[in-house]
Amino acid sequence: MRYISTRGRAPTLSFANVVATGLASDGGLYVPESWPQIGLDELQALQGRTYAEVALAVLSQFIDESVPPSALAACIDEAYRDFGHELVAPLVQYGPDQWLLELWHGPTLAFKDVAMRLLARLMEAILRDRGGHATIVGATSGDTGSAAIDAFRGLAAADVFILYPHGRVSDVQRRQMTTVPDANVHTVAVDGTFDDCQALVKAMFADAAFNQRMHLSGVNSINWARIMAQTVYYFTAALALGAPERRISFAVPTGNFGDIFAGYVAKCMGLPVGDLVIATNVNDILDRTLKSGRYAMQGVVSTSSPSMDIEISSNFERLLFEAVGRDPEKVRRLMEGLKQSRAFTLEEQALGHVRGVFASARADEAETRGMIASIFARTGLLVDPHTAVGLVAAATVQRRHPGPMVVLSTAHPAKFPEAVAAATGVKPRLPARLADLLDRPERINRLPNDLTAVEDFIARHARAQRMPQGNT
Ligand SMILES: *Cc1c(COP(=O)(O)O)cnc(C)c1O
Repeated sequence: MRYISTRGRAPTLSFANVVATGLASDGGLYVPESWPQIGLDELQALQGRTYAEVALAVLSQFIDESVPPSALAACIDEAYRDFGHELVAPLVQYGPDQWLLELWHGPTLAFKDVAMRLLARLMEAILRDRGGHATIVGATSGDTGSAAIDAFRGLAAADVFILYPHGRVSDVQRRQMTTVPDANVHTVAVDGTFDDCQALVKAMFADAAFNQRMHLSGVNSINWARIMAQTVYYFTAALALGAPERRISFAVPTGNFGDIFAGYVAKCMGLPVGDLVIATNVNDILDRTLKSGRYAMQGVVSTSSPSMDIEISSNFERLLFEAVGRDPEKVRRLMEGLKQSRAFTLEEQALGHVRGVFASARADEAETRGMIASIFARTGLLVDPHTAVGLVAAATVQRRHPGPMVVLSTAHPAKFPEAVAAATGVKPRLPARLADLLDRPERINRLPNDLTAVEDFIARHARAQRMPQGNT
């Protein structure tokens, strides 16, 4: 499989190079040259198989000779071996024709583990093959950083540096990052906001000399391997509920549009998917876009589901590319409009394509709190605020379109204990393997919001510059 950029002006790349690269050099996102197909027979043959078996069947379609099948199988096995649930992503029924897909059984208790753990192992395999070494840098507002740190800890071919805003992440989120003792893991508490952290990361990638010396690599949600890894649980969930004979809908708590785009990919590959419901909190730019045809930024507010407090939904560009008939010229024009005037309008045909596949609904803070309380009262299940947004959206769409619906449960309730306790009166407990998190010693490196200071810190700790580099 070869990969092309949504903006059409970056080189076509192999799978291995797409994983190592992240963002395309023309500012676009990489997508497969065509969507591989999984036929009805093949889907039927996958019914009842393990998560790892389905993952191998689905993911091998996207991977070329740059990663051999035996290496892929080993990566999958290592990525999911120590999940807290044997099924990796189990389904729990909460009503007639209503299921939760629990994606938070990984080590850091959010769905980001599912993709990040596979990405880390793929990167390690690719770098090992080339005799290279990488420096992973990323900014986090909470969940991505801990997932990246846990996924890359102890790996020989990469050092990981995560920037987070000092004093602006929760205790659980910070401790999940700062208590990891491995020598290749480094956190930086920046005196600034999440946007400042992200600006620092962008500036490091743009600093060509530094980028080359350190062999920088990114693991944010635009990395194709993360989307690809997330397609697998759409298959396992739908198969468990009767696909391909039965059409299943999914409601997805959405921020950067990575998770739900993976559902679109599964559908493009031949999985019979009903509605794909974009669930947003009051930061509802995507819900407004579906209703009005206009993507218009108006500022972000803080909510109890912070991983969805976003209005530049990076992966939406991948859907735009499909919606405009894979015309990179049109994507470039829309993205230029967004940069110039913080908005763009979808042409009739593109909007028709989007509405043909996706539905959308939003939940405000009161509805989110109300849902956490009511699902607990009805079923005894504790859900986190992101999952609750998904539940509200699923209910809205199911009233119009009855049929089997799976809500992606993206975080463990103990990751957001205050919001859950406020709605239910019950404080969710951390799983046993994390019970001592609040007692583990922390390593905190606090730095000013200053590019030179952060680059110096990374240069002093990264191994890449001291390693002989292979053909990267
Ligand atoms: C990242 C995240 C989301 C949003 O996922 P996207 O792929 O960015 O749309 C939703 N819920 C939780 C808990 C997350 O960490």
